[in-house]
Amino acid sequence: MTFTIGSIYSGFRLVTHSFIQEIASDVYIFEHELLKCPLLAIKNSDTNKTFSVAFNTTPTDSTGVAHILEHSVLMGSKKYPVKDVFGEINKGGLTTFLNAMTGADVTYYPFATRNLKEYFNIMDVYCDVVFNPLLDRSTFLQEGWHYHQESPDSPLQFQGVVFNEMKGAFSDPIRHIFHNIFAGLMPGSTYAHESGGDPRNIPDLTYEQFCAFHKKHYHPTNGIFLLYGDAPLADELEFLQSRFLSAFPAPGTRATIEEGQLARQPVFITDSYAVDSPDTKAKTFLAVGTNVATFAMREENTALQIIANILFNSDGSPLKNAIVSSGLCKDFGGFFMTNSSSRTIMITYLVGSEKEHRDKFLELYRTALDKMVGEGLDRDLVLAELNKYEFGIREDASKAQRGLDLLGKAMTALKYGIDPIEALQNDELFAKLRHKALEESYFEQLIRQYLLDNPSTVTVTLVPDPDKQKRTQAEEQERLAAYEAKATEEERAERIRQTRELMQEQLQPNSVETLSLLPQLTLADLSTKDDFHIATPTEMFGQQVLVSELPTNHISYLDVGFDYSCLPPELLPLLDLFGTIVTEIGTKRLSYQQFAKEIATCTGAFSHTLATYTKRDVPDFTRPVFWLHLKCLPAYLDPALQLVAEILTSVSFADRVRIREIVGREFAWAEHSAHSEGYHLASNRVFAHLSLAGRYNEAVNGVTAYLAIKDLAQNYDAQEEKFLAALGKTANLLFNRNNLILAITADGQELGHFTRAGDCIPDALASQPVTRYELPELGSTGMADHEAFITSAEVVFAIQGGNLLKDAVGYNGHFEVLKTYLSRDYLWNTVRQMGGAYGCFIQFGQLSGNLAFVSYRDPQVKKTYDAYQGVPSVVAGLDLPEKVLEQLIIGTYGNFDPLQSAAAKGATARNDFLNGIDVAYKEQRLAEIVHSTVADLKSFAAAFAEMMPKSYRVIIGNRAKIEADRSLFDVLIDL
Ligand SMILES: [Zn+2]
Repeated sequence: MTFTIGSIYSGFRLVTHSFIQEIASDVYIFEHELLKCPLLAIKNSDTNKTFSVAFNTTPTDSTGVAHILEHSVLMGSKKYPVKDVFGEINKGGLTTFLNAMTGADVTYYPFATRNLKEYFNIMDVYCDVVFNPLLDRSTFLQEGWHYHQESPDSPLQFQGVVFNEMKGAFSDPIRHIFHNIFAGLMPGSTYAHESGGDPRNIPDLTYEQFCAFHKKHYHPTNGIFLLYGDAPLADELEFLQSRFLSAFPAPGTRATIEEGQLARQPVFITDSYAVDSPDTKAKTFLAVGTNVATFAMREENTALQIIANILFNSDGSPLKNAIVSSGLCKDFGGFFMTNSSSRTIMITYLVGSEKEHRDKFLELYRTALDKMVGEGLDRDLVLAELNKYEFGIREDASKAQRGLDLLGKAMTALKYGIDPIEALQNDELFAKLRHKALEESYFEQLIRQYLLDNPSTVTVTLVPDPDKQKRTQAEEQERLAAYEAKATEEERAERIRQTRELMQEQLQPNSVETLSLLPQLTLADLSTKDDFHIATPTEMFGQQVLVSELPTNHISYLDVGFDYSCLPPELLPLLDLFGTIVTEIGTKRLSYQQFAKEIATCTGAFSHTLATYTKRDVPDFTRPVFWLHLKCLPAYLDPALQLVAEILTSVSFADRVRIREIVGREFAWAEHSAHSEGYHLASNRVFAHLSLAGRYNEAVNGVTAYLAIKDLAQNYDAQEEKFLAALGKTANLLFNRNNLILAITADGQELGHFTRAGDCIPDALASQPVTRYELPELGSTGMADHEAFITSAEVVFAIQGGNLLKDAVGYNGHFEVLKTYLSRDYLWNTVRQMGGAYGCFIQFGQLSGNLAFVSYRDPQVKKTYDAYQGVPSVVAGLDLPEKVLEQLIIGTYGNFDPLQSAAAKGATARNDFLNGIDVAYKEQRLAEIVHSTVADLKSFAAAFAEMMPKSYRVIIGNRAKIEADRSLFDVLIDL
């Protein structure tokens, strides 16, 4: 069907249409005749159809109303009175993406699927929940906040999903930095508020305000509709009009962003964040936010994005070097924010500093910038960062969720009143920019104008405060006490009744009748053809290479791996750090700055990872691998390969100053991640009890590694010689041809190129005899069964696991269906909905049969462990209606055939090959999944019952919460 500009299609008038060559898509922009909302459609042959409905939500306080509403509409609508619509769709669908997000000035509901029937199904559900939600009072209490008291003698608390989520988020110091920068730069604006909700303000929100916010903001007139992919456009328009928009008799109003008063003079803010230990040395964050431009200034914004990389991220940056070597901090960085607000902001920060360093930092920052501008930027550095940026554009085009990306760009443009057609194009703008940057000193001018001669800045000093957590808790207790003092006997009784009712309600699953209202796929809708890709071992230049030939938009993804069982165990805890150093430090010929420029010029990225492989049907086989990953465009394949070869032959650890800086920086980040994402440390610890592979992972990426880097960073002077010797020894033992594993993902032309040029990698390595080491069993290391690790987080990550199936015997597709049920239903309800955790999931090794339950940002300890303890009886007593089982099967099936970019497909194929997993194995699992019965699922009950008493508990997080249930753990260890 052809669409004519000016004509009306199902209530939408076509405003403009153009074919955009660089994204190979037709782009249509419509406006609804009556309601005046925009609809943008990006049409092409991509089967991963993507839809999003967005609303301009502009909060006027920090109660988190927009965020609570985002959660609450997903608790059911008039047509679909299904609790937790989101979870239910997730359980039984093939979606490749399904989410809802609250930004500073927008809330949006995007999803993607490759199934056309499901595409319209979910469009119906999403639109119904946003336009016609139930918004019951109990939903508000559960998702927002309520006074929670289970019995007269149990404590009175604030509880609520968003309340708990934001408590977790607010324990992250980075959050405080952002908030202060926005509030400081744009006082009185929409952005001065926390749209996610500040835990101190969330209990100010009333149910009535909450409903009013929906009424005002969720009208189509205040909305934006976005469509992408190969679905028929006329049908999409007709669907939206006839089912939803025709019900609105008149236009509503469009919410406007409050711009506030832009700071015209430098602003200085000091704030604090909670730390657990009294040691506050080198824990201050310093950050500068500079208001730069408006979103509409595309050329400046793109240039400033590249300038940010030149200044803050490149190791070749004189500014970065000046600051890092000044000893003012452990790490320094920065970035340019272009789509979080109507203004674009340059942010730069110091990690691990002191508040006394602030003025020195600002002075150093100015002096270094001034010098860079005065002398002119290093051309090689500018070229390197221009190339890197261009690489990013190329790679985006072969991304799996390309639709989401493009719709995101279009949405931001529409939100700020910019032409989206322009916002979707890059090539011309970029070519012009490249010229101006290299020939006209454009970047120097911008740095002077926007960063040096610009008083519109906020400097934030965020100091560590060991008493803050206590104080925050005391404030909360005071508030509860004040409420309690005023409460009447009836109110108290009512509160307990309400708490119990809420808990009772949460226990009730959706009835089968309610669930059957949701439009769902059936087993018959599942595609019979799967899309598994396998890697082909290919002989090239006398070396086996695992080859994945895939359409990568001419990018080569190369993996150079080394079996690290050649390393004695004492070298393992610092292997990850070794990887970081090796990919940054340079060689005998190139300093780290020169090396950084070379890498940025020739590659899209150069990085390392650590992985462990076992082999199907070979129980004792374990191969730990240290990977170097490289990706590059065709013109740069040869120099990129030469660069890797140079590292393998002559990596240099002579720059002691730089190595010391890297150690300090890496420890600062490790500490931050232990605090905000610590679950992996705890789950690695559990799996270390269960297999050799688990012990390797724990040694290189677990608590053992964390404590080793902490010890090194804190006692660096004493350990420096030993550490430098260990780096040299690791390189010597590891970079050996007998440890080498090569893999590549690329399209045909690039593979040919690699066949001719790749021999420089093996040629760079000597063939030395190898001694293989085994890691000792844990019994000899004295690791306790049940461990608790204390950090300054306000929440915990609670893990419990064991060996469910010995050597994975008995593992099949039915188990995958059961796993889906447990994580998306049982644990979702008990740990997330009732317990208030942000998430809860299962980690399971198909080849080992080892399993762990993991809770994420969890406010509970005992309750969560009780939920885990309940699993065997839940499985034994499982009784699922046919319809529910069918949805579980479809959801599980979807997980098994994930949407992946070419690069990710290649990586999966490489890992499958190394694990001995072939297409027949995957197809058999898929067949078993489709033919699962309830009895098949229940057959695992005995295995769970046997595992639980022999399982291991490891928890990481908040001291008070852990100490309250001290008896669950053998030892408490401060991290
Ligand atoms: Zn949320």
